[in-house]
Amino acid sequence: MNKIQFDIKQLVRKNVLCLKPYSSARDEFTDFDQDMIFLDANENPYENGVNRYPDPQQKSLKTILANQNKVSEKNILLGNGSDEVLDLIFRAFCEPSIDNVITLPPTYGMYKVLADINNIKEQQVWLEKGFQPNVESILATANSNSKLLFICSPNNPSGNLIDQERIEQLLDGFKGLVVIDEAYIDFADTKSWIERMDKYPNLIITQTLSKAYGMAGIRLGICYASEEIIGILNKIKPPYNVNELTQQRALQRIAKENQIKTEVTTIIEGRIQVKETLSAVNFVEEIFESDANFILVRVDDANKRYDQLIREGIVVRNRSTQPLCDNTLRFTIGTKQENEKLIQTLTSISKS
Ligand SMILES: *Cc1c(COP(=O)(O)O)cnc(C)c1O
Repeated sequence: MNKIQFDIKQLVRKNVLCLKPYSSARDEFTDFDQDMIFLDANENPYENGVNRYPDPQQKSLKTILANQNKVSEKNILLGNGSDEVLDLIFRAFCEPSIDNVITLPPTYGMYKVLADINNIKEQQVWLEKGFQPNVESILATANSNSKLLFICSPNNPSGNLIDQERIEQLLDGFKGLVVIDEAYIDFADTKSWIERMDKYPNLIITQTLSKAYGMAGIRLGICYASEEIIGILNKIKPPYNVNELTQQRALQRIAKENQIKTEVTTIIEGRIQVKETLSAVNFVEEIFESDANFILVRVDDANKRYDQLIREGIVVRNRSTQPLCDNTLRFTIGTKQENEKLIQTLTSISKS
């Protein structure tokens, strides 16, 4: 794509472009250079830790994330999980019943659900064998109403990274916005696409604290993109979309970089160990390469093996209904003990 020709105003919905966002009390007054008495937001004045509305722009969290990723705070939007971030992207750029998005199954199920909720047509271009995208078919499927292309890398449920050159070709050739979902990037031996944001004005990267950071319960999703794109998303986000407890817990956790690294390293070791032992299980037919915290495995009979595992107290995900995924199970990597129990159980089932 020619950078000069890219005009975000051509992609954003007209009503969003013209919209005047809600201005909250905490948006309007932000000069905290002396002790102020806040009688502007109809809050209960008695302190209990959460009686005040949270910072609508999550300044402290963004400062840390901006430093860690060498971007400006203006390149960051935070949401109630990546699910909210993805929903905001749909609502900012896709005109219901007119526009469409392209997804690359087998992939994360929320893209389709959000398309359905927003009444946006989803055009599927299946990944090829080996779970890589077919650039030609994708570009041939796209039309002037194709606003978003979702690339999940590492991909869920297959686990593999999407080839960098193919992503570049898609960034160059696709006329809408390319959303790279990096929910599992911390488990991969590669750098985030955040570094390339300056080169591609049509690039949006989403990340989350739900996986490597171990905070699925607090719901914090992150979006990195150009200032222009973030500005548009900011216009439509609910004013207080990230609550005070989430902001506090995320701040505490993000500061513990070493602990997170140690956990991620241990999970990757677990992945290698589970993968090695899986190849000795006689009903396992194929183990797919993974750069994530899970492994997709093809077995002889997924429903049967799934039921057998449930009876032994182990819940895995049966992904057999997904394209290219017949008879596959997805195993999340657990603690050392959990992984050992999984392996023992699979081995004993295979001998019975
Ligand atoms: C788990 C997952 C997410 C996380 O979503 P949250 O709403 O942030 O918990 C996002 N994308 C993919 C592909 C995932 O697998």
